[in-house]
Amino acid sequence: MDFDLTHEQQMIYEYGNSLAKKFDRKYWMDCAEKREFPTAMYQQVADDGFLGLMVSEQYGGAGLGMVETALFSEGLANNGIPLLSLIVGSTMSMGPLEKFGTEAQKQRYLRDACAGKIRFCFAITEPGAGTNTIEATTIAKEKNGKFYLNGQKVFITDANDSDYGLVVSRTTPHTQVKRKTDGFTLFIVNMKDKNIAKQYIPVSAVIPETQWLLFFDNVELGPEDVLGEVGKGFDILFHSLNPERILAAAIGVGLGRYALNRAVEYAKERRVFNNVPIGAYQGLQHPLAAGKTEIEMAGLMTRKAAWVYDQGRPAGEFSNMAKYYAAEAGCRAVDAALQCFGGNGFTKEYGIFDIYPFLRLLKTAPINREMILNYIGEHVMGLPRAY
Ligand SMILES: Cc1cc2nc3c(=O)[nH]c(=O)nc-3n(C[C@H](O)[C@H](O)[C@H](O)COP(=O)(O)OP(=O)(O)OC[C@H]3O[C@@H](n4cnc5c(N)ncnc54)[C@H](O)[C@@H]3O)c2cc1C
Repeated sequence: MDFDLTHEQQMIYEYGNSLAKKFDRKYWMDCAEKREFPTAMYQQVADDGFLGLMVSEQYGGAGLGMVETALFSEGLANNGIPLLSLIVGSTMSMGPLEKFGTEAQKQRYLRDACAGKIRFCFAITEPGAGTNTIEATTIAKEKNGKFYLNGQKVFITDANDSDYGLVVSRTTPHTQVKRKTDGFTLFIVNMKDKNIAKQYIPVSAVIPETQWLLFFDNVELGPEDVLGEVGKGFDILFHSLNPERILAAAIGVGLGRYALNRAVEYAKERRVFNNVPIGAYQGLQHPLAAGKTEIEMAGLMTRKAAWVYDQGRPAGEFSNMAKYYAAEAGCRAVDAALQCFGGNGFTKEYGIFDIYPFLRLLKTAPINREMILNYIGEHVMGLPRAY
C-alpha cells in the first residue's frame, strides 16, 4: 500500500497555492457577492490545462484520472476557493461526453470545453420530482426524426451563462416503462435556444455561480443532440454520480481545512487573559484538533474513493461515504474555527462565517445527506428500503 502522491500528483495538489496568488479567496468572495461567475480565474485554470484533467489528450485534456481531479479541487479549496462549477461543468458533463459521446460530439464539444471556450451546466432536478428523479416529467417526444423537449428544471447552476446543458429528460413517461430507470435520455441542449426561458433564483448562500429555474417549451433537438442511447440515459447518469460525489467531498475537505488553518493562525496570535494565546485554551483547541482529525479522515476516504473509481471498480460505497463525511466534518470544522474568532468571525473583514454556507450546502447539494445515508444503509449494509 502506498499513500504517497507521485511528483505530478503533488504538483496538481499544490496548483491551488499558486493560483491563489493571483485569484485568492478575496477574489472568489468578490465574485460571490456580485453573483458573478469567476471568469478570469476559470480561464486561467483552463489555460493552465486543469479543466479537462480527466479528458483524453486527443480531445484537449490531460488524460489523467479522478485522483488527480480530486487533488486539484481539494488544492483549490485549501485556499478558500471552492469551485462549484468544476462539479457541474467539467466533471458532470465532460466525463459523460467523452465516455458516451459520438466521435462528432467529442470533436465538437470537448476541446472547447477543456480550453474554457464553452461551459456546460447539468440539469436533473425538477420542481415536482425533486430528489425522486424517477418521477421526472420533463419529456422529449419524438416526431419525424426530431425531439421536442418540454418541462422544467430547477436550481440549475450557471444555466444562464453556460453555452450548453446536459439535460436529463424522459423520452418515455415513468408510468409506461418496465423498469423505473428505463426511458431516460440525456440531451446536449444549446442553452441559448429561444425556447428556453430562465428565471433567476436568488440563493442566500453567497457563491459566485447563479441558480436558475428553466422552462423548456418545445425545444427542438436532433439525433445529434442525444448523448448515448435513447432510453438509456440513466446508465449515463449513474456513471457521473460517483465523480460528482468525490469532487464534492474533495471540495468540502479543502474548504474545511482552509477554515481550520485560518483559525490556527488566529488562535496562536490572539491573546486575552494573562497574555496566553487563545489556542492554548482546550475549549478551543480540542474542537480544532477534532476538526482536523475529521477533515483528514474525510480526505483519506475521498482519495480512496477516487482511487477505486480510477481502478474501474464500483466506487459507490466509498464515494458516498466520502461525500457524507466531508460535508459533516467541514461544517464542524468551520464551526470550531468560527468560535476562535469571537466577534471577528462574523465580520466581513475576517470572512470566517462566510465559509459556512458553502460547506452547509454540501449536506444538501449536489445530493442530500439522507439519500447518501439511504445508499449506504441499503446498498452497503443491506438494510431494507423505506421509500
Ligand atoms: C446551490 C444549489 C445548486 C444546485 N445545483 C444543481 C444543478 O446544477 N443541477 C441540478 O440538477 N440540481 C442542482 N441542485 C439541486 C439539488 O441537487 C437538490 O436541491 C437536492 O438534490 C435536493 O432536492 P430537492 O431540493 O428537490 O429536495 P426534496 O427532494 O424536496 O427533498 C427535501 C429533503 O427531504 C429529504 N429527503 C428526500 N427524499 C428522501 C428520502 N427518500 N429519504 C430520506 N430523506 C429524504 C432530504 O433531506 C432532502 O433534503 C442545486 C441545489 C442548490 C441549492
